[in-house]
Amino acid sequence: MTLPVIELREVSRRYDGGPPALHEVSLTVRPGEAVAIVGPSGSGKSTLLHLIAGLDRPDTGTVTVDGVRVDRLGESGSALYRRSKIGMVFQFFNLLDDLTVADNVALPARLAGMGRGEADRRTVELLETLGIDRHARSYPGRLSGGERQRVAVARALMNRPPLLLADEPTGALDTAAGQDVGKLLTELNAEGQTIVVVTHDLALARSCTNRAVRIADGRIAEDARTHAVAPETVR
Ligand code: ADP
Repeated sequence: MTLPVIELREVSRRYDGGPPALHEVSLTVRPGEAVAIVGPSGSGKSTLLHLIAGLDRPDTGTVTVDGVRVDRLGESGSALYRRSKIGMVFQFFNLLDDLTVADNVALPARLAGMGRGEADRRTVELLETLGIDRHARSYPGRLSGGERQRVAVARALMNRPPLLLADEPTGALDTAAGQDVGKLLTELNAEGQTIVVVTHDLALARSCTNRAVRIADGRIAEDARTHAVAPETVR
């Protein structure tokens, strides 16, 4: 039995004065899974993602990612955790406009202390794999939305994280570019990358994930396998 990538046990989080944003949520994600977190606005999806990313702490319950007790991390531990264990992709790409595409992609490696030679090699490899090598010296502002999201995915994968987290990755893209990102996530998952994607985009959820977790009012309302998962990746 392989260790889960994500293990949430009875996690609750309430913001001041409000109803619980999450109420006793337990969730296990195993290596090789691609999980869509879906649900209406205000149901708790971002709260869940922030807890997994170590950007917020639960009031009660435990959050473990790749063996790390994320709910116990302090500020510096949490930054180190995000650099080494997770790659994040956002709706609006969050690229640095005054750095080239190659420098954006290499940034997490530089922050993690990887030598320049090794970081450069890894950058070239990622840009080629993601089909954006011809833009290496361009600035993100020159690229289409779909290309920018590819750069963001390359950056997220730089430090070979066990977990790729995506927050509405197609939210700012047209249909064709959104499908392209879906295809990319499908390919990464086929190579074994564990992915959790929060999305309103049901087409994306259907196309690139093999499990859909529906959140309603801070609870898991449904957790359904949507496609078969390769048995060698999920046990
Ligand atoms: P979703 O991502 O599904 O839209 P959220 O996790 O953002 O849902 O929100 C869940 C609930 O928690 C909502 O009622 C929201 O208003 C509340 N909430 C989220 N973030 C905060 C915050 N920083 N302060 C107070 N309430 C918040």
